Amino acid sequence: MRMAAHPFFQDSSILLVDQSFQRSNDRTWCFWEAGEGFFESIVHHQWSTLRVASKTIDVSSSIDPYAYKMIRGEDFYAYSLNALQSKSNIELRAGKITDFADTATGAFVVVDGERFEAKYVFNSVLRTSSEQLATAQNKHHLLQHFKGWVIQTVEPVFDPTRATFMDFTVSQEHGTTFMYVLPTSTTTALVEYTFFTEELLEDAAYDAALKNYISNQLGIKTYTVEHVEFGIIPMTNADFSTKHSRVINLGVAGGQAKPSSGFAFQFIQRRTAAITAQLVKGEVPNQRLSLQDKKFLLYDSTLLHVLTHKQMAGDAVFSAIFQKNPMQRVLRFLENRSSLIDDLQIMSSVPTRIFMPTAIKEMFA
Ligand SMILES: Cc1cc2nc3c(=O)[nH]c(=O)nc-3n(C[C@H](O)[C@H](O)[C@H](O)COP(=O)(O)OP(=O)(O)OC[C@H]3O[C@@H](n4cnc5c(N)ncnc54)[C@H](O)[C@@H]3O)c2cc1C
Repeated sequence: MRMAAHPFFQDSSILLVDQSFQRSNDRTWCFWEAGEGFFESIVHHQWSTLRVASKTIDVSSSIDPYAYKMIRGEDFYAYSLNALQSKSNIELRAGKITDFADTATGAFVVVDGERFEAKYVFNSVLRTSSEQLATAQNKHHLLQHFKGWVIQTVEPVFDPTRATFMDFTVSQEHGTTFMYVLPTSTTTALVEYTFFTEELLEDAAYDAALKNYISNQLGIKTYTVEHVEFGIIPMTNADFSTKHSRVINLGVAGGQAKPSSGFAFQFIQRRTAAITAQLVKGEVPNQRLSLQDKKFLLYDSTLLHVLTHKQMAGDAVFSAIFQKNPMQRVLRFLENRSSLIDDLQIMSSVPTRIFMPTAIKEMFA
């Protein structure tokens, strides 16, 4: 989409391969940004106020200048396919990718047995699972797994200007667990049951918890489930970069899911914007981490370490951070855009006796 939007690429011949372009509404992306973004026209809903709750806090705050935005998968796929299909220099091919690597002059990809050569291959296929990658590199690995229901109520019960970003008041028996409540009208909301843990649950356990939360915590007795989604996002500090210079990994396969939160959408946008900008300048897209990236990777690794070694419960960590900092500072921190002063303020919100030695361990690891 970034290449399609930039005149520099209008004479480039671009092949876009996916095993299928028939996509269902399989995911809902939520993310925050200030002002209008690249996919503004398909933002389904946005919120100006976020709430975070746990057994110790209940904070609601405006996030101005940010808005928390939702894009539905089906809108994203329809909008993108429509834009790409109208470009004569972009070919869409449904097929299975079985191999790709550098060549002497660029890179190749094999699709259903047919080989294509190009200057670059931009790859979204995870060839080694994130867990295998983490194990081989001796890195941390958790799963963000979640099940969401879009529910429709009879009575108007929701405030569509306010989203519950994290509600940790649910049981923490399996590890870090919270609910999102994302109302898109007074009678419709996506309620999502989310974990940062090592193991998935039986499917029925997600359903039981959603039912219980909607009925007992939200106090909604009559509703219908309009849509269901389930997702797993790796949370790992493993290195996803390729050793190839002309195969550039993108998305989750490129390590763009933030290790300590699973948020990926905005990191993918920033990365693809940076790649196109480098290509326009005639540079080879850089896969190395900047000093700034390394700083945030250290923070992520520290939190992953604390959570995987159960040094402090996730709900307590997030409660402390949200209680002692304005929401905007936390959002800057979570999107890797905080200043050093922001970082110090966030760090002083959590117990240094736990986080400092762990950060030092991670720095040397
Ligand atoms: C249900 C769900 C909800 C999410 N919600 C959020 C959210 O709210 N906010 C956020 O920031 N992140 C979210 N994420 C995380 C992340 O933003 C998404 O996973 C995002 O789609 C990742 O983009 P990607 O390009 O890496 O992978 P994908 O979007 O999964 O694209 C990979 C593509 O590769 C194709 N493919 C794979 N193997 C082959 C092969 N061998 N041959 C041909 N094609 C192949 C697949 O068909 C797929 O189209 C969510 C993820 C899921 C699963």
